[in-house]
Amino acid sequence: MNAFDLTGKAAIVTGGNDGIGRGIAIGLASAGASVCIAGRNEIKNDEVRREIEENGGAAIAVGCDVNVEADIGAAIAATEDAFGSLNVLVNNAGIAELDAPEDMSDAAWDSVVETNLSSVFKFCRAAPPSFTRSGSGKIINIGSMYSIFGSPFAASYAASKGGVVQLTRSLAVAWAKDDIQVNAILPGWITTDMTAPIRNDMPDLYRSIIARTPAERFGEPEELAGTAVYLASKASDFVTGQSIAVCGGYSVS
Ligand code: NAP
Repeated sequence: MNAFDLTGKAAIVTGGNDGIGRGIAIGLASAGASVCIAGRNEIKNDEVRREIEENGGAAIAVGCDVNVEADIGAAIAATEDAFGSLNVLVNNAGIAELDAPEDMSDAAWDSVVETNLSSVFKFCRAAPPSFTRSGSGKIINIGSMYSIFGSPFAASYAASKGGVVQLTRSLAVAWAKDDIQVNAILPGWITTDMTAPIRNDMPDLYRSIIARTPAERFGEPEELAGTAVYLASKASDFVTGQSIAVCGGYSVS
């Protein structure tokens, strides 16, 4: 038996309609999982759903703002209705606000911490009843290099992503006895809309990132899929509370 096979498993990917979330959703589907694409933009949700179905997979598209608690419950219910279970939760939705800390507004701080950390907690908190019905569960939270390093231009982002690592460890410790594994993936610099301003408009920062990345390039969203499949699968049943960097060596250089 292939320990990485996700046939019969159902996953929610928040922000699964673009960037890293889309790469992970397609990767989980290729490994056999049925996937709920949960994002705010329903047109983009539906495009990814269709792409998965055209490649022989199973998917649903659910409008979901992770900051709205009713949407969290609705996404979980829709997944169980469509596929009969929820086995994997990928908390990927995230935003960044770039500003010097002394200039950052309360609103900018709150929106980043709410989306990147508080909503991750709320989605995690809502999942265990479904996992109990399934007998086990997997949570994969998406952190960042700024889960590890400080940032002079994204303090709220770094604080939220540092929090994701500690939340991951805490939930892992709390729920290991229930056969729920909680891990994080820390992407390095990946080619998505989030990093487009750096690639397009900040040449000095872009060059310094490439110079510091041993792989000498940005990663692509689909390069996160393998680690997500591993953490969603039976192959990782004794792995919990870990944060795995997928970063072309950036975190160790
Ligand atoms: P992206 O291309 O901008 O995609 C962000 C995704 O999050 C979109 O699908 C968006 O969908 C969704 N989203 C944002 N706010 C949401 C909300 N309130 N409710 C539901 N969905 C929401 O960004 P990305 O680069 O793929 O980032 C994905 C994750 O990886 C984020 O957590 C980010 O912090 C992390 N990350 C990215 C990098 C990188 O280099 N790109 C590096 C480290 C970590 P809707 O707008 O439709 O809701």
